[in-house]
Amino acid sequence: MAILPIVTFPDERLSSVCAPVGGVDDAVLHLAQDMLDTMYDAYGRGLAAPQVGVLQRVFVMDLSWKDGTRAPQVCIDPVISWWSDDVVPGPEGCLSIPGVTADVPRATAIHAVWTSPDGVRREHALTGFAAICVQHELDHLNGIVTFDRLSPAARQVVEASYTVRCAP
Ligand code: ZN
Repeated sequence: MAILPIVTFPDERLSSVCAPVGGVDDAVLHLAQDMLDTMYDAYGRGLAAPQVGVLQRVFVMDLSWKDGTRAPQVCIDPVISWWSDDVVPGPEGCLSIPGVTADVPRATAIHAVWTSPDGVRREHALTGFAAICVQHELDHLNGIVTFDRLSPAARQVVEASYTVRCAP
């Protein structure tokens, strides 16, 4: 078990497109366990590898642990194979942008495919918070943060609030 330091915006690793993992081995399983430990420690529900400085296409999430039941998921080489036309903005936080919530437009339903720790690739039909979380974490693997999903005017407002918060 290891708690890893979390990279914060505007670190350039958060703007990088991550490389495919390619397969399940001990290294990626070890990384995923450390990411889960780090996510729980930071009181988050999702964490992507670039947020701990590793530029690989893997993220972890646990949608239910704050309600009392741990259900850790490790998503390796994820892709979204279908998006609903329905797009709704909703408030999102990010462990790499502490203290800031942004209203990010997201598809309300998606199908996503990823490799699980057992090495099997499966498709998942997701709605609600699960759909939002996967879109958010997959954005990280493509070098996209919540700020990048906002209109220029909205981005200016939230980014200014973050800058003020982080000023020395
Ligand atoms: Zn995030």
